[in-house]
Amino acid sequence: MPIRTPFVHPPCGRQWSGQRAEHCPACHETFASTRAGDAHRTGPHNARRCLPPATAALWQDARGLWHRKPYPDL
Ligand SMILES: [Zn+2]
Ligand SMILES: [Zn+2]
Repeated sequence: MPIRTPFVHPPCGRQWSGQRAEHCPACHETFASTRAGDAHRTGPHNARRCLPPATAALWQDARGLWHRKPYPDL
């Protein structure tokens, strides 16, 4: 088993692990994959903004990672 090194984002101090996980630098939510992260972004390309993940058809697992419904994005 590879050693899992947690990532940390100093501005918010949140940690996560998982190679494919993505942390949003704007709203500081952590997503299980790039595609899950994309799901909470909305608006035109030059004015992207974040939706609350719970309203973007995402669900949060016990580690705090957001996944696209209905499956784990791993
Ligand atoms: Zn965000
Ligand atoms: Zn952060």
